[in-house]
Amino acid sequence: MNTSQSRQRAAAAFIARGWPVFPLTPGAKKPLRHCRLCSSKSPDYQPHRGVDDCPHRPDTCHGFHIASTDPERVADWFARYPEMNIGIATGPARLVVVDLDTNKDGSPPPQQYDSMGVADGGDVFALALERYGQAFPSSTLIVGTPSRGLHLYWTLPPGVTVNKSEGAFGWNIDVRATGGYIVAPTSVTTDGEYRRLSAGLDPLAAPKWLLHHLEGTGHMPKPPSAVRPAPARRPTSDRGRTTLADLAAQLAAAPEGQRHRVLCSVTTAAAYLVQAGRCAEADVRAEIHAAARIAQRSENEIHQAIESAFEYVGRRGAA
Ligand SMILES: [Zn+2]
Ligand SMILES: [Zn+2]
Repeated sequence: MNTSQSRQRAAAAFIARGWPVFPLTPGAKKPLRHCRLCSSKSPDYQPHRGVDDCPHRPDTCHGFHIASTDPERVADWFARYPEMNIGIATGPARLVVVDLDTNKDGSPPPQQYDSMGVADGGDVFALALERYGQAFPSSTLIVGTPSRGLHLYWTLPPGVTVNKSEGAFGWNIDVRATGGYIVAPTSVTTDGEYRRLSAGLDPLAAPKWLLHHLEGTGHMPKPPSAVRPAPARRPTSDRGRTTLADLAAQLAAAPEGQRHRVLCSVTTAAAYLVQAGRCAEADVRAEIHAAARIAQRSENEIHQAIESAFEYVGRRGAA
């Protein structure tokens, strides 16, 4: 079986799973080029926004927006571009792919990773796993890239949207989801092949910790929030002080691997104390902050946890 045949077989397996595919440039990761009507750099360019108002029925123009699960259409692409690579439109495929890069140019990690032994995206991902007390997700679909990076695939639950991003998950980690695509296994560039490393082709459902993390890193659009009620300005009561101290102690003593989870639950509980008028918001912020530092949480993580807790509780309160 030649490379084109194995790629056609792979494309058939993708569309059988409902994953829309589209042609990438042979030997490269980029979509096939726009035609002259669709290329803003051409003198013949006819200004338009995309597929919907394209001056012709887009066939290979507009990248992942033309991705299809129609076997005939895909066969037709292969007939004309036998050496084409395959892109999967991750949004309509309901996939989220975490792309661990290898830090090819060897740039030094950002300061927040100092003395943590972090050299690339794989190390940053390992830190996230440790933070959530998780093992490496070796049972999901994993693809090795020509530059020795890894693509980890998961399926998204209905109704959940994840936006693509570069670097928001962590240093040297990209997320491919809505508004993006992933170079599929069997594709080949001048650097080598995208090769499936896992036993099967079926990704697992995205785990809770991952969705939680993606929410924290701003990959998931927040539900429309109701107007947040003004925080109660009442001073902290004696009972409120005791409860808050308990929560802070629980956070400071949280075992490694569970600290992030405890930070989130404790912060939410503390935000409810403010809403119930038992604690002053400033006291809650100060106590939680101090306890989270003892639990060795980063400033950024603490800030995110506190802000999202108040927002969450405010939203619930208004509902
Ligand atoms: Zn065109
Ligand atoms: Zn067009």
